[in-house]
Amino acid sequence: MTAPGEILHTGAADYPGLDEWRRLPLSQQPAWHSHPEFESSVAELSANPPLVFAGEVDKLKRRLARVAQGEAFLLQGGDCAESFDGATADKISARVKTLLQMAVVLTYGASLPVVKMGRMAGQFAKPRSSDEETRDGVTLPSFRGEIVNGFDFTRESREPDPRRMVKAYNTSASTLNLVRAFTEGGFADLRAVQQWNKGFMENPAHARYEQIAGEIDRAVRFMEACGVEFEGLKRTEFYAAHEALLLDYERALTRIDSRTGEPYITSGHFLWAGERTRDLDGAHIDYLSRVHNPIGVKLGPKTTPEEALALIDKLDPHREPGRLTFITRMGAANIREKLPPLVEAVRDSGAQVVWVTDPMHGNTITAKNGYKTRRFDDVMDEVRGFFEVHRALGTYPGGLHVEMTGDDVAECLGGSDVIDESAFDGRYESLVDPRLNHKQSLEMAFLVAEALSRR
Ligand code: PEP
Ligand code: MN
Repeated sequence: MTAPGEILHTGAADYPGLDEWRRLPLSQQPAWHSHPEFESSVAELSANPPLVFAGEVDKLKRRLARVAQGEAFLLQGGDCAESFDGATADKISARVKTLLQMAVVLTYGASLPVVKMGRMAGQFAKPRSSDEETRDGVTLPSFRGEIVNGFDFTRESREPDPRRMVKAYNTSASTLNLVRAFTEGGFADLRAVQQWNKGFMENPAHARYEQIAGEIDRAVRFMEACGVEFEGLKRTEFYAAHEALLLDYERALTRIDSRTGEPYITSGHFLWAGERTRDLDGAHIDYLSRVHNPIGVKLGPKTTPEEALALIDKLDPHREPGRLTFITRMGAANIREKLPPLVEAVRDSGAQVVWVTDPMHGNTITAKNGYKTRRFDDVMDEVRGFFEVHRALGTYPGGLHVEMTGDDVAECLGGSDVIDESAFDGRYESLVDPRLNHKQSLEMAFLVAEALSRR
């Protein structure tokens, strides 16, 4: 139960500093401020209940502090971009189930608690490399995620529409409601792990999963026979994360926690700044520096050690373990060269950040038939490189951040149940970046569990 004081939040209209970002360079936003429904949409969001509570957010920060100290592992996964139509019970449960299966493999394989977090219930806004897209001589605004505009290439659909923020809020609320029901209502009961992978048995990764599930099942039955009741096996904590890209939305969902008087973004537990919006003097980093949530920052191969240290000074001035997570996305070809100087500089500064590998965004290629894809081998290689670098430097490889789904899609090439380009036409569903499918996700979890247990 949450104590009553923990769920009381007040509006943040006049809180000092929360509007400073409006005066700073702000990239990747739609031009919609003069839209007739902009003000009413923001007002509606500001009056809506928070999606998450400050007490939960603080608990996550304590969990992440344990990750920073090398005592737990962080698993983040979900769609590149959620879609409104994709928020069905089947798809949400498949994704949560896959993340929980990955977490089981990691927990059991590495004997470490796993902090589970979805790129879910709010991951609707996308940064784009260009403001406009041209097809056959027609130029329209780029698709910026369904919180901003539609994917279809028509003028009407690509027009930014602020009412979409309200729809994104409502879709996030129903997604989070289902996730909470699944993870707290018995669905995540470890005693049911063997039932989770019906229909996926022929794949090698699944044969290994079956074996682990069988071992856990025997251990749990043994404890039950001895009269031991573990509440911890029946339900699990699951946190919601997304990129804090659309500052109109995040500002409208910021609330003041009545216990502490501090501002929290209440659209999700964990928010991150993307590679394109992490400028030290830009609006996004300023805004994130002023809220009390745990914060992530994506770091690409051009990041300098000085930038990493300046981000720590700005976002984690009190050096609070759990506050700051660096999510590196270097590319398989770069990680062994580009990551060490950053890790060394941070280590030598004494700051305790969580280091997470995102092996997806540095490894995106275009397939011969035009699809945006990633090779599973490249993704795996970046993960291996991440563990090698941390092993060599004596630092802790704290987590994994993947774009994945619980469905049997064909978006990334390879895996032990090989996906090739010919499968894309029938089974490529992602609106933006290619995701690992269910089998590829499990295979990834086994690789990471092995690397962790070797430490
Ligand atoms: C993403 O996570 O979908 C993304 C756009 O990542 P990055 O900011 O690292 O490019
Ligand atoms: Mn992506």
